[in-house]
This record gives sequence, C-alpha cells and structure tokens, in this order.
Amino acid sequence: MMQVESKLIHSKPDFQLHSNYVNPPIYRGSTVLYKSVDELEKSNRDTLKQQLLNYGRFGYPSTKEFEYQMTQLEGGFDSVCTGSGLSAISTSIWSFVESQDHILVCDSVYYPTKRFCESLKKFGIEVEFFEAQTGSEISKLIKANTKLVFMESPASANFRLQNVKEIAEVCNQKKIVSMIDNTWASPLFFKPLNLGVNVSIHSATKYITGHSDSFLGVVVCDQLSYPKIRAGAINWGQNASGDDVHLALRGLKTLPLRMQQHYHQTYSFALWLESFSVVQEVNYPALKSHPDHNLWRENFSGAGSVFSIKFIEELPAENFRQMLNQFKIFGLGYSYGGFESLVVPIMGQKHQIRLHIGFENISDLKMDFIQAFEAVFGKMK
Ligand SMILES: *Cc1c(COP(=O)(O)O)cnc(C)c1O
Repeated sequence: MMQVESKLIHSKPDFQLHSNYVNPPIYRGSTVLYKSVDELEKSNRDTLKQQLLNYGRFGYPSTKEFEYQMTQLEGGFDSVCTGSGLSAISTSIWSFVESQDHILVCDSVYYPTKRFCESLKKFGIEVEFFEAQTGSEISKLIKANTKLVFMESPASANFRLQNVKEIAEVCNQKKIVSMIDNTWASPLFFKPLNLGVNVSIHSATKYITGHSDSFLGVVVCDQLSYPKIRAGAINWGQNASGDDVHLALRGLKTLPLRMQQHYHQTYSFALWLESFSVVQEVNYPALKSHPDHNLWRENFSGAGSVFSIKFIEELPAENFRQMLNQFKIFGLGYSYGGFESLVVPIMGQKHQIRLHIGFENISDLKMDFIQAFEAVFGKMK
C-alpha cells in the first residue's frame, strides 16, 4: 500500500487516456465529434452516467482524473469540480435546498459564503447562523424543516473550530445533510468524510493549484450527495476550465511538500509572534494557547498557513493602515495558499490582521514584520 505522497504521483484512475505521458495534456474544447448518429446518441446516455463526456462543459478526461485524485484523498464516493471555490459552495448548497427549508450556517464562514447564504432568503429559504465553536448543541437549533448544516472549521473570520464529529453525528441521526468548507486544512490535514460529514468542499484556487494563478473549486461527496451535486453542477452550468484543471493536477503532485512547509513555517512564525507583549492574541489552532487546540489535535494532522493576530488596544488603531503600507515582503492582498506571504486587515476589527505564510525564508519574514511594526509604532516588545 503506497503512502499519500507516492499515490499522488503514481496512482491513476482505471482509464488511461493520455498516451502514457506523465502529465495529461491540457484539454481545451467544446465539441466532441462522433462517426454516426447512433454513437452520438449513445454518448448522451454515457454522459449522464459520467462514463464519457460529450461536451466541454461536462469536464475533460483531466477533470475526471482530478476528481478521482480528490476522491481518493478524502475517502469520498466521487467528486465534482467547478470553476471556483465559491461556485463549489453555492452549487453544493443549492443542490439540496428548496423554498420553505431551513439551513444552519456557521456564522464566521468565509464572508462571500455568508453573503451567498443571505441571498437564498429571497427564494424563501430560512437561513440561520450558529456560533463557530459549536458541537452537539447544534441539535437545539434543528427544526422540522432543517435541510442542511454548513460548517467551516476553523472558521475564516475567527479561527474557532466546530466539533465536526459531533455535528455530523447529530445530522446523520436526523437525516440532515452536513457540508464543510475544508479549504484551510487542505485535503491532507483534515478528512471530514471519515467523521461522517457528507460533503467536503475546497477552493482549489488556494493550496491545491498552489501558485496564485488559477480559479477552481472541488466538492468531495459521499454516495448520498454525489448524484444531487453532480446534477446541480450540470444544470447550473458550473464547469472548470481545462487549463485550471491541469494546474490543479500538477499542484497535487507537490501538495504534501508544500503543506508541510506551510505548516512548519506558519507554526514557527505564529509562535514567535506570541512572545511580543504588543501582541494580545495569535489565533492559530496549532498553538497551545488556542481555545480549540485540543480539538485540533484530535482531528487534524497539520495546520494551514493562515491565522490572525490581535494587537493590544493601547496602540492607536488609525496607525494600522500605515503599518500595512510598510511591508516590503508580505504582499497586501486577498487569497492564500500560494508561494508568497500575504497580509490583510480584518474588516471591522481595528486591531486585527490576517497573515498567510508562504515560502520566503522565515528570518526575512520576521525582519519584515518587525520593520513594518517599528516604522509606525516604535520598538516592538
Ligand atoms: C478563498 C476561499 C473560498 C472561495 O474560493 P474561490 O476559489 O476564491 O472562489 C471559499 N472558502 C474559503 C475558506 C476560502 O478561503
């Protein structure tokens, strides 16, 4: 039995479609040609069964290979690839809800996910948000018309963890679909389907493609959820470009290496930040000081590259904008999961910033942090 690093490089789906090249070609195309009407009609039936794809929007052989790899990684039944992380989320949720349904969504989710859920209200869907640090207490929020629970752990806004196992247990007992945005941990460090969650979603824009040069989403499904989410993606025209799928397949080969380095560097940076008295909180689940650290240890085998810090209130809030302008190595911009370190202010939180630690030398990153801080606030202690 091969370990994950080897499998990502050597395991292939049963079908072998690329003339035995190590890499699949980049597929670009809309039209597939057939020799006869019989064949063309048969292709429609096969496409519905996902055995053969007769139009570019349904995906390419490389899309199938990427979906196969993701399914293997997270122990799913099959996966559905879409054009962005947000479309993977909207397609998954949309595939399960009808008007009059009630859905429960973690209140600290990635903000565009929250906005998407809010937008469902106009279709008569009742949307209720629950606190990020929730476990079995979720059962108190479940009503007769509750259709699904959407988690993100750790949550983008406050890095608190849900007790995913407990929530999945409640959902399975009550026959409610459970979904999770698993982007932060990557498919390597957390396996929600093993804990009974039905659907695990990734913005492959982040770690999986890994180089800040593409947009892609993927939904790893269990057997129950797959047919619905596949049909949803087909009906709503949620497809991914062949170029981006190619980059995702390439990214997977080095994902274990990159995730280890992200984890290693981020842990060391976060721990270092804790030693400064001007830093009040470092919100990174891998640190012992994090309120959900034990839960993280129980369920995760590593940590992502993103965390937030809160400075002490004594520092003048207006100067944080200035500080962010001083960074020379950290870039000021959204997203994460690429090679370059990033920093952004956390909206609505005067003393907080979010960091993504990339692959620059860690000493250079520390120096950059100190010089930006000291340029505005004076000696960092
Ligand atoms: C970036 C991100 C998304 C959205 O992904 P896109 O590919 O940018 O659409 C969703 N969830 C989380 C946690 C993210 O960080």
